[in-house]
Amino acid sequence: MKMNASEAKQQIEALRKELERYNYEYHTLDAPSVSDYEYDKKMRELIDLEEQFPDLKTPDSPSQRVGGAPLEAFEKVRHDIPMLSLGNSFDEQELRDFDRRVRQGTDADVRYVCELKIDGLAVSLRYENGIFVRGATRGDGTTGEEITSNLRTIRNIPLRLTEPETIEVRGEAFMPKRSFVALNEAREKEEAEPFANPRNAAAGSLRQLDPKIAAKRNLDIFLYGVGLWENDPTDSHSDRLHKLKELGLKTNPEWKLCEDIEEVIEYVNSWVERRPDLDYEIDGIVIKVDRLDQQESLGFTAKSPRWATAYKFPAEEAVTVLRDIELSVGRTGVVTPTAILDPVKVAGTTVQRASLHNEDLIREKDIRIGDTVVIKKAGDIIPEVVRVLEEHREEEAELFAMPETCPECDSKLVRLEEEVALRCINPNCPAQLREGLIHFVSRNAMDIEGLGEKVIAQLFQEELIHNIADLYKLEREELLQLERMGEKSVQNLLTAIEKSKENSLERLLFGLGIRYVGTKAASTLAQYFETMDRLMEADAEALEQIPEIGEKMADSIARYFAKPQVVELIDELKELGLNLEYNGPRQTEGPADSPFKDKTIVLTGKMENFTRGEAKKAVEELGGNVTGSVSKKTDLLIAGEDAGSKYTKASDLGIEIWDEQQFSDALSQVK
Ligand code: NAD
Repeated sequence: MKMNASEAKQQIEALRKELERYNYEYHTLDAPSVSDYEYDKKMRELIDLEEQFPDLKTPDSPSQRVGGAPLEAFEKVRHDIPMLSLGNSFDEQELRDFDRRVRQGTDADVRYVCELKIDGLAVSLRYENGIFVRGATRGDGTTGEEITSNLRTIRNIPLRLTEPETIEVRGEAFMPKRSFVALNEAREKEEAEPFANPRNAAAGSLRQLDPKIAAKRNLDIFLYGVGLWENDPTDSHSDRLHKLKELGLKTNPEWKLCEDIEEVIEYVNSWVERRPDLDYEIDGIVIKVDRLDQQESLGFTAKSPRWATAYKFPAEEAVTVLRDIELSVGRTGVVTPTAILDPVKVAGTTVQRASLHNEDLIREKDIRIGDTVVIKKAGDIIPEVVRVLEEHREEEAELFAMPETCPECDSKLVRLEEEVALRCINPNCPAQLREGLIHFVSRNAMDIEGLGEKVIAQLFQEELIHNIADLYKLEREELLQLERMGEKSVQNLLTAIEKSKENSLERLLFGLGIRYVGTKAASTLAQYFETMDRLMEADAEALEQIPEIGEKMADSIARYFAKPQVVELIDELKELGLNLEYNGPRQTEGPADSPFKDKTIVLTGKMENFTRGEAKKAVEELGGNVTGSVSKKTDLLIAGEDAGSKYTKASDLGIEIWDEQQFSDALSQVK
């Protein structure tokens, strides 16, 4: 589907925001919330769009940046030569494309070094006259964290080289599979959150302040490259690997010098099979142009060298038996089939369930109860049934058919026009009501802490709640009767429920679960109408006038608010004291001459004539974006009296700083 420029802009912005969050979780917190596969797919989509619409490319896009911000707790290290990322290849064709680009760029015979892509944390080690003086993480590529004491605990990092070289070497610190399993077992016993994978475990071990902890974690290292080398005696990468080893640095023994891309492909394929035999995780193969003069003439993009690529392995698969197909009814009445599997290990975790999405998919793959199936999990979090191994099928295995009635309320299921899903359309279906309540209290909706899925299910079961309004009528005594609910948790819960009454309108709108209205649309509606009353008065035509609200959504919103039971519910919520107005930040375009338009601005210190809230509002009304902390992305710091660390940081980064007078002058000029 081809997009126009404004759709592309929207999509690009959404992808950037999403990828930035994933980067932060992965690189800064060492706790990813999505799989690498999903991340890579989204990144690909962004890169493709930026290529189609080059005007929309910006230097701060995640497609142009490496890693994540260094943690504040560590001393910072500036890398003299940036530590970059690697371009990706996902199949043979992409490897051949890489080879073609390389040969076009060098105009000569090229040999490649293939190395295992160790799934750990990139580090830099600096030796002066042969002595290990400093170790750092990659960080955002330009600035990393100083972690010398932690790195000293890795036995394979020599504190002295065999020769008095001054060199900065680079490599991957990692946690062997066995240590990873043992560590997670121990953590589970202590009820500490287990690490998602060995990479996060290695990063988490090196990026904490106590070297005693790092020492216990059995980390290891392979060195694979050079940043700076005074008196570099080498002229090829293979030569460097030999020389690093001679200096006493541990290199990975599996590397190979290949004559051409065909040999590279052979090497890559051979490792798909052998990969599970290694006692450390690899997530691909790195292919590097061997000759350093050729590397130099190929150069770098903003994010990665043009002379190397990382081939990423396809998803890991496993075979198991599908024992049953369970049906569940969601908030919108959609009935979803889930495969119940014999537990099987895929990509490091045990899988027992996989969504089968809908009846069409089951038909297409001809999945039957009792089948032997292949499960995929692309280093992944979400398992999926790839295909059935028909040769193992029992003769009596019957075709799977979805039921005709709702598994929860027994009313007839329907398939709406142009939909693959089967739905229960009984508005009083208990499953839908329960799921709707779970959605209502969830993080992006009313965000009521302490009201998880289990508590809602209990409240529902005990018939203490039937709809949203009932949540706000819950009494202390009723809650105390529930399992595992003590005085303290009941009090916390009631406080959280009470607090949620003040939420800005968009949270309530999203929480109501109106079809097609996601967080973004809820926000647009709340900002546009400002009050629930005004929104409820709008008909489909009026709603469609709002940019970003399409016909389908407008129609769905108008129909929702036309229902008498919805009007009744909103009245009841009003009576119960819920806020029905928008009180979030105003996002206006701002006048064209606004000094704040599209700028990222941080406020700090005390101002005489403005509260923090007033200053924020003024900036936002003029099209500026107020954020909480100073970073390289900050355009302007507005500092009142007694400004502290934000001021220091902004001056260190050379960011423009205004005092209150300048701020108020600027405001009066615009007005
Ligand atoms: P990368 O992992 O694709 O490749 C670059 C890195 O490979 C280098 O920095 C180095 O650390 C490592 N490496 C290992 N062996 C090497 C060798 N022999 N030679 C050279 N380098 C070697 O890129 P990245 O920038 O580190 O991370 C991006 C990737 O991380 C994404 O493609 C994605 O898979 C993952 N990621 C996942 C999430 C998530 O939320 N799941 C978020 C951000 C990034």
